[in-house]
Amino acid sequence: MKKFKTESKRLLDLMINSIYTNREIFLRELISNASDALDKIYLASLTDRSIKITRAELGITLAYDAQARTITVSDNGIGMTREELDKNLGTIAYSGSLEYKQGQKDAEDAQKAEDTEGATDSTDSNSAKGKKKAQASEVTDEQAIDLIGQFGVGFYSGFMVASKVRVVSRAIGEDQASSWESNGIDGYTIKDASRDEHGTDVILTLKPDTEEDNYTHLISEGELTHLVKKYSNYVRYPVKMEVSKERELPKPDDADEDYKPQFESYLEMETLNSMTPIWKRRKSEVSEDEYAEFYKSDFRDYAAPAATFTIKAEGVLNYDALLFIPSHAPFDLYSKDFEKGLALYSSNVMIMEKCADLLPDHYNFMRGVVDSADLDLNISRETLQRNNQLRAMAKRIEKKITSELGTLLKDKRELYESIFECFGRGLKYGIYTSYGALKDTLADLLLYYSAKEEKLITLREYLDAAPSEQEAIYYAAGEDEKLLAKMPMVKSVLARGYDVLLCTHDVDDFCMSIMGSYDDKPLKNVAGADLGLESEEEKKEAEDKSKEYGELFSAMQEILSDKVVKVALSSRLADMPAGISAEGPISLEMERIMAAMPDGGGMKSERVLELNVEHPAFAKLVEAKAADTERLALLTNVLYNQALMVEGLPLADPIEFAEAIGQLLS
Ligand code: ADP
Repeated sequence: MKKFKTESKRLLDLMINSIYTNREIFLRELISNASDALDKIYLASLTDRSIKITRAELGITLAYDAQARTITVSDNGIGMTREELDKNLGTIAYSGSLEYKQGQKDAEDAQKAEDTEGATDSTDSNSAKGKKKAQASEVTDEQAIDLIGQFGVGFYSGFMVASKVRVVSRAIGEDQASSWESNGIDGYTIKDASRDEHGTDVILTLKPDTEEDNYTHLISEGELTHLVKKYSNYVRYPVKMEVSKERELPKPDDADEDYKPQFESYLEMETLNSMTPIWKRRKSEVSEDEYAEFYKSDFRDYAAPAATFTIKAEGVLNYDALLFIPSHAPFDLYSKDFEKGLALYSSNVMIMEKCADLLPDHYNFMRGVVDSADLDLNISRETLQRNNQLRAMAKRIEKKITSELGTLLKDKRELYESIFECFGRGLKYGIYTSYGALKDTLADLLLYYSAKEEKLITLREYLDAAPSEQEAIYYAAGEDEKLLAKMPMVKSVLARGYDVLLCTHDVDDFCMSIMGSYDDKPLKNVAGADLGLESEEEKKEAEDKSKEYGELFSAMQEILSDKVVKVALSSRLADMPAGISAEGPISLEMERIMAAMPDGGGMKSERVLELNVEHPAFAKLVEAKAADTERLALLTNVLYNQALMVEGLPLADPIEFAEAIGQLLS
């Protein structure tokens, strides 16, 4: 017997111990796998002449045996070799996605998991550690469902209802079939087996009923039919099962007058699912539930989509599109491995699972189907790229997504906000990476947290609420809304009655500076050196004072040498003795983000040390300037470093800073 890997076993345990309240979805998962295997063989047959199979021959069969307590899902799809059975069914989420996500979760949960570390046996591999942490007993049900949903442990859901799963499979082009068998607990066995043709049978032996759980009811014609219609109605291949029918017996010749018709029952293969593509039906005829079930089954998501919309294009180019906005972001959305795309069909036959050319990058999160009878079945990836029809479709789809998002923003604000939480960062990237070309399309879809309103608002809403004399849109960028709200520069803008947008996406500052303005109002980072908020009077006063302390400032600048380009007075520091701002195109926030990137460390902002003339510390500076140059150097360094700390910037030399404080205190 081969053992399951430790991590697979843990996930299996979680699943079997009924994290899924909804166990009946096991059937949907197995049917979806079968449907995928049929897609695969069909796609292969298009290019491989040795595969002689027509689409009409492909299908899925269900069978059950009440005595043996089995349910069997069969397909005549691509099948699996012995090695594939081992690889695909021996490890949960063989694709590596689990490892990836858990690496990520690991980073997030590092702190929390620290406590449980002692409980798990030690290992030197980082990713294995990640797995252990994520699967430690403290993983909440919600997280576990999230994991399961995202890794497509689809096949393993069989173990929620079965005490034994046997898979018999024969790969196309092979003579030998193999079987895989497991009780889902410690391991599995693989043996030679026989099967008449290519394809796969998954045979579940259902668990015995318990007081809480009844499995027996699943083994019935009525229940299986119901589940297929509920979860797999739009699978594109027939799902057939022998169902019992009744027919009237011929009336005997010698029947007397009060003869009542007699019936006999017999079995007949029947297709249980509708098979009409759901996207061919009118939107008004399909319920939200039906769309959701189709989405979940076709796109392997455990959660219903946040929104669904359709396109019916008629004219030069005919096609139907059914588009979904997922309700959560896939774990790898922001990784380079993420594959965007819509499924492409030609007259109800899938020709590509993920056609990337149908979606622009900023809408990469969209899922859906595009079906056009006008497309060539044998279209290849290469020719697709040059395909004008495809380009026209992509354009229309992009427009539709933009307008639907706009409608959601207007009519279903709460829902839109949750969508934006998941995918808003991508929209901002879209503006940034297009060098602002997408600004007109996307700027109105952006939401920012308003310091004044304490909720998400659009740029339009910001301007609508702004006093008429306000000349710019102000924002602050950093890691944390709460910290940003406390920044003296934010407070000083707020004190003037102007709202400040608190931006916490890494791309925000870059996106804002690429946009430059919105509705002719410049977008200004409050940490920028010159906000131009002072009145003429204030300016005059500042100028006079700057002159008065000119010598102090140049002495301080000399002390700080190349660390700052300028030392200046500021009226926006509230209770702080000093602050840091940036002149020029690179903001402090940009510098911080670039420094965190593998090769972005070289980007430096032009820092200005701002001083608060009202603060008692300022008088000390003036004193030191007159009497004690060493003390001035000490004070200057301390003020500069504490201003860096407030900005969340790394200190140039923490030890020197600590020593300087020590000296001041003694
Ligand atoms: P997923 O389907 O999300 O990849 P599963 O655990 O359901 O995850 O299945 C693992 C793999 O096993 C599939 O990717 C597929 O390669 C293979 N597989 C499962 N069921 C079948 C089937 N009926 N026919 C052929 N291959 C299958």
